[in-house]
Amino acid sequence: MKITSAEVFVGGPGKNYVTLKIMTDQGIYGLGDATLNNRETLPAQYLQDYLIPCLIGMDPRNSEDIWQYFYRGAYFRRGPIAMATIGAIDMALWDIKGKIAGLPVYQLFGGKSREATLVYAHATGNDLEDLLESIENYQAQGYKAVRIQCGIPNMPKGGYGVSREGEDSKHFITDFTGAVPKEEVWDTEKYLQYMPTVFATIRERFGPDLKVLHDVHHRLTPREVYAFAKSVEKYNLFWLEDPTPAEDQNALKLIRQHSTAPIAIGEVFNSLWDCKQLIEEELIDFIRISVTYGGGITHVKRIVELAGLHHIRTGFHGAPSHSPISMAAARAS
Ligand code: MG
Repeated sequence: MKITSAEVFVGGPGKNYVTLKIMTDQGIYGLGDATLNNRETLPAQYLQDYLIPCLIGMDPRNSEDIWQYFYRGAYFRRGPIAMATIGAIDMALWDIKGKIAGLPVYQLFGGKSREATLVYAHATGNDLEDLLESIENYQAQGYKAVRIQCGIPNMPKGGYGVSREGEDSKHFITDFTGAVPKEEVWDTEKYLQYMPTVFATIRERFGPDLKVLHDVHHRLTPREVYAFAKSVEKYNLFWLEDPTPAEDQNALKLIRQHSTAPIAIGEVFNSLWDCKQLIEEELIDFIRISVTYGGGITHVKRIVELAGLHHIRTGFHGAPSHSPISMAAARAS
């Protein structure tokens, strides 16, 4: 069996999905996702110029060998662009193997181990009333978990991840002009004072069973997170996400030593080497790496296996910029 061609498509319904399609000489094809939000043209070009020419003639069943070939073949290993492209190839190869076997890909990894998966919705509000209404709406739809983000009084609207679908979402649409980082006004003191009152109101209104998640978006220093995590411990968060800049892994030590708040991090990681210290030292509770820019199913499964040894669960990154192919690959992983 041989790979005969491969194509990259950029686009989708309101999104810049980067989709790879690998064709074989037996009519079977595989799909993979290389979407790197706000940098979509780069993985597409990387695939077209450097990786697809090497794929032609390879046996698509040899996914491990192909993964190692591309990972080791480039002198500059890792990085989100390279790992997203290797990830897309890997997903497409597993897709092909599943089709050859006539089985869903998860059946090639030991079969089904869950009847259902807990998912959360993004409940957001420009103010507290708006947020409470958003939570009520998701509860009415059956969600048992919500990730909550709330506008902070006396800080300008629109910052801090509170925008809703359809609002302020130009950065997801296929128009690369003007794709510059958004600048926001931020006030740490106001945030630290206000957010605990939001959690208190949510517990009062919705009781102890609602699973509440919150994303700090990497905005606090370790000392600030320490104080914040202590102040919200009594509200029993399901997870506290991205508390400090993820590239400083030692920062998580201070938080771990002083708080029992469950920590989730990793959506900007792209290899096992980014996760290794946090997992081995058991500084986190959930690893958030994406299957797309985490190098695909082959590499993410290694991370998952290591995490399992250290009591760390997965909460794969699943932002709206992730394509359905990436989400399917996450379930298989
Ligand atoms: Mg996050």
